[in-house]
Amino acid sequence: MTEKSFNNFSDSISNFDENYKYISNRIEAAVMKSGRKTEDIIFLAATKTVDPQVINHAINSGIKYIGENRVQEFLSKDNDIIPVHRHFIGHLQTNKVKDIVSRVEMIESVHSIKLAEEIGKQALKIGKTMDILIEVNIGKEKSKSGFLPEETEAAVKSISKIDGVSIKGLMSIPPICYENQKIVSYFKQMNKLFIDISTKRLDNSSMMYLSMGMSDDFELAIDCGANIVRIGTALFGKRL
Ligand SMILES: *Cc1c(COP(=O)(O)O)cnc(C)c1O
Repeated sequence: MTEKSFNNFSDSISNFDENYKYISNRIEAAVMKSGRKTEDIIFLAATKTVDPQVINHAINSGIKYIGENRVQEFLSKDNDIIPVHRHFIGHLQTNKVKDIVSRVEMIESVHSIKLAEEIGKQALKIGKTMDILIEVNIGKEKSKSGFLPEETEAAVKSISKIDGVSIKGLMSIPPICYENQKIVSYFKQMNKLFIDISTKRLDNSSMMYLSMGMSDDFELAIDCGANIVRIGTALFGKRL
């Protein structure tokens, strides 16, 4: 890993440039190895705690997708950021949905039916259909949100009936694993779920995106079928 913590703007920029080149090359190699094309994969920069100036530099360097985690932070930065594809990727509370629905293109982290209903309701108010991913708690961790793998298909069925939302795939944050074999087994379970659900061809839901893989494991995720990878630390350095 080349990531470092930075304390000033020019350091941030030069470290970003180096990291961006390095990570882009690794993504490209992983994509080729998996027999796909670079344009089939969305390289999303996870920008929590990153200053708008640095985010704008990243966008000017070629980043086309950014993802934020916290509503307050997102709102405070959003007006300063160059328009680009924006996803919400963090834990979302029902009462905050109305603040972001007009501002993001996709909410990746839909972890309950109630949340999906609120997203649909707020989206309809502004005449929008919100693209969403269904979050799967693949490691069945108590500390994480998301549907259990065995609940996911039923959740997709229920949520697909809600007006104002359109299901575009699945997202997951697997448990922290120190062995590649372990993380790969979670990614493979996600891929199987994704394929099983897409085979069912449920109405009003398409399994287009499988969002998994972060700084430490994006190559493994791509190898297991991910087509959105969300990368923070490896691009911007360690969060302080
Ligand atoms: C922070 C975050 C990432 C990026 O994690 P890194 O390990 O810093 O690459 C990806 N996905 C989500 C949901 C995150 O909150």
